[in-house]
Amino acid sequence: MNALRHDPLSGRWIAISSDRINRPNFLPIVSRDPNETEPCPFCPGNEEATPPALETYSGDGRWLVRVIPNRFPAFSGNDTFVLQHHGPVFIDAPATGIHEVLVLSPSHDTTWADFSREQTDLVMFAIRDRIEAHQNTPGLRYSQAIVNSGREAGASLHHPHGQLMGIPIIPKELIEEQGNFARFSGDCLLCVAAAVEESAKERLIQATEHTITVAPYWSGSPYELLIVPRQHEAHLPHSPEATLVAIGTAIKDGLKALQSHLGDIAYNVVFHSAPYRSTTLFHWHIHILPKLTTLAGFELGTGLYINIVTPEEAAENIRAFIAPPKAADSEKVAS
Ligand SMILES: [Zn+2]
Ligand SMILES: [Zn+2]
Ligand SMILES: [Zn+2]
Repeated sequence: MNALRHDPLSGRWIAISSDRINRPNFLPIVSRDPNETEPCPFCPGNEEATPPALETYSGDGRWLVRVIPNRFPAFSGNDTFVLQHHGPVFIDAPATGIHEVLVLSPSHDTTWADFSREQTDLVMFAIRDRIEAHQNTPGLRYSQAIVNSGREAGASLHHPHGQLMGIPIIPKELIEEQGNFARFSGDCLLCVAAAVEESAKERLIQATEHTITVAPYWSGSPYELLIVPRQHEAHLPHSPEATLVAIGTAIKDGLKALQSHLGDIAYNVVFHSAPYRSTTLFHWHIHILPKLTTLAGFELGTGLYINIVTPEEAAENIRAFIAPPKAADSEKVAS
């Protein structure tokens, strides 16, 4: 099947080209790091190897989530954000901001796919609390939360961790998504997308009381997932705790299903929440992007992504690995 599909969120066109999967050089990249010898700075007992924690979340007498300053920050300091022009084409500005690491678990050999319910709750609360802390910092406009897992996805350490950057600009991807919410001729682009995907079913992976997970119609890469809170809300920190914990579990379920079908893959989890003081229409959401292929010249040169697995096939393959809701959850749905 070859078709162009439009991604109304990013504004990009996607080429679905499922015949290309038969090319001999397509192989899922398996994430393993056999050369790990250094002591891990994120493991319990090695806390001295990192700067002091900005925040810790504990359970049964030990920390379960730890937020620490990044030792190699891309954004730091509180210089006023001022553009400097050095001649007709050279413009720069101070990389002011905050760059933090979230140690997602005390366990070295685990991933979000295997976290307990308590662990996913605390991770989501940490993300909420740190975005709130960033937005109270003068000069900053937007926080980007990410989880890179596996070296191929950009993780430099194996221990499960995420990063949170508070930055003085609104990045292009967000500006484009916000613009596309504004241009969409309906109420909210993602409320509509979640509703139509839920009734179409063929790309639906999980529907719970608070969340919808799909392999979006416009998937730009194989097995990409989009997780949307049912309740319309632009800003992640404004969502009620019930939504946040449900999203934490939906991420776990999605990652577990991907892992069950594809093996131990590298992936990126990207949180998109509206810029702090933005009042324009937006609906916060999560992208899960398995790292199964590499962007090549065509993608880099055109911004047009070629996806060799149709989202319908991806959804069908991993839906079977989503555990049915627990009795307590289904009672809640029924009431
Ligand atoms: Zn470790
Ligand atoms: Zn919405
Ligand atoms: Zn997004």
